[in-house]
Amino acid sequence: MTDTRSISDASPSLVRFDINHPEYDAVIEADTAFWSLVRKDVSAEILTDPGFLQKIAENRTGFADEMDHLRFGLVPSAVYFNPTERCNLNCTYCYLPEDMRRHGRHMSKEQLVEALDLLLAYFHRQMPPGVKPQLIFHGSEPMLNKANVFATIEHFKDDYIFGIQTNGTLLDSDAVEFITSRGISLGLSLDGPTAEITNRTRHTFSGHGIHDRVIEVMESLRGYQNYSVITTVTTENLGHLTEMVELFHSLEVPTCMLNQVRCTLPGGQKVRPSDEEFTKAYTEALERTHELYRETGRKLVVANFANIVLAVVAPTARRLMCDISPCGGGRCFFAVNARGDLFPCSEFIGLPKFNGGNLFSGGLETCFQTSAFQNVTQRKIEEIDECGSCPIRHFCGAPCPAEAHELNGAINQRGAFCEFYKDQVRYVLRLIADGRENDFLWDNWDKGIPTVFDMNMS
Ligand code: SF4
Ligand code: SF4
Repeated sequence: MTDTRSISDASPSLVRFDINHPEYDAVIEADTAFWSLVRKDVSAEILTDPGFLQKIAENRTGFADEMDHLRFGLVPSAVYFNPTERCNLNCTYCYLPEDMRRHGRHMSKEQLVEALDLLLAYFHRQMPPGVKPQLIFHGSEPMLNKANVFATIEHFKDDYIFGIQTNGTLLDSDAVEFITSRGISLGLSLDGPTAEITNRTRHTFSGHGIHDRVIEVMESLRGYQNYSVITTVTTENLGHLTEMVELFHSLEVPTCMLNQVRCTLPGGQKVRPSDEEFTKAYTEALERTHELYRETGRKLVVANFANIVLAVVAPTARRLMCDISPCGGGRCFFAVNARGDLFPCSEFIGLPKFNGGNLFSGGLETCFQTSAFQNVTQRKIEEIDECGSCPIRHFCGAPCPAEAHELNGAINQRGAFCEFYKDQVRYVLRLIADGRENDFLWDNWDKGIPTVFDMNMS
């Protein structure tokens, strides 16, 4: 763990970070994730200004404690659960082996109930009384085992907060009614504003498109607030992200994600966009969501970006745990496959080396101590060569360990999108300089979040 006493005793070590703003630079203390915007004409001298340094020094223990808790003090409170190995699609970038998706097994209702009983007992041992764990049915495609999944949700309706991440193709009107009437969190996937673009990466094994089916489901979800749509950004849809957010906004999608493709397996690596092109397309799409908000008064929150805004303005309010080291895999949540095998995160399910045990053979308690899990949960950004001196390391986290392992040969390497992260943080800081950051966040995101320290250096 970080030694917060040594942080508070040492002098703040600030660096200037150019955010490409006409009036402001940022100064950042990387160890504590403290930052301030300062006018360009004084940003060099502020780094050694005794009054400024004194104010930071007085608050460093608080910053460090907060970061320390976020990085090392949380316990697992969620699980991604695959109720089947099969999928009806063959997406270009899928991280699960094709043979498993074509011929794998379903879990029976009895196995699902046994598994959720075991998980519930574990969460009760970890979490404060009265707090419900989250369980997200995940893929492969969980709706291929829909009857058993829905029966299991009914069985445990008072015990878990449920979510379903699905490709959407198997959601008929009864399924939509089941999900929306229970307030279940629903995640869909769509990669293009038109069928031609979506079908480049998301299609059946025989090559048939699924775009129109997913749009039908999205139409039926108008007005439902507990759902989101993931777009995986690849070379195949990079030029269409602005149209993508226009489509989502027109369909009243409350939240979307524009996620960079994970380059964990070769399929993802083949459609990896360059950092520069991705940054350009992504910021254009974000600016378009802002225009739409100004024009209509209705937000389309891009959750993966909102999470970076929160990482900067209120680290403890983050909702996603990829952009911090150690990431959330194996410490805030974990994954269970359809055989009961345990992994730090779904991203590792295709990598047997990261199997930490089996739920049904009593592996839950011990799996967190296995090297399969510890290698992920002990991955510290300070120990990654290029990241140790990076000023934005606690806003980035060098995701993703699975991607780093497969793409760059070791878990203690960077992932695929380093320059994109730097540009993303620059953009967040420019929004803050211009007073626009709240327009990109969920309404009331800060309800109940205390301000640890606020230093306004205009
Ligand atoms: S960074 Fe990768 S392993 Fe960690 S939580 Fe995100 S997807 Fe999972
Ligand atoms: S991956 Fe790049 S941006 Fe992220 S912490 Fe490492 S050096 Fe910094």
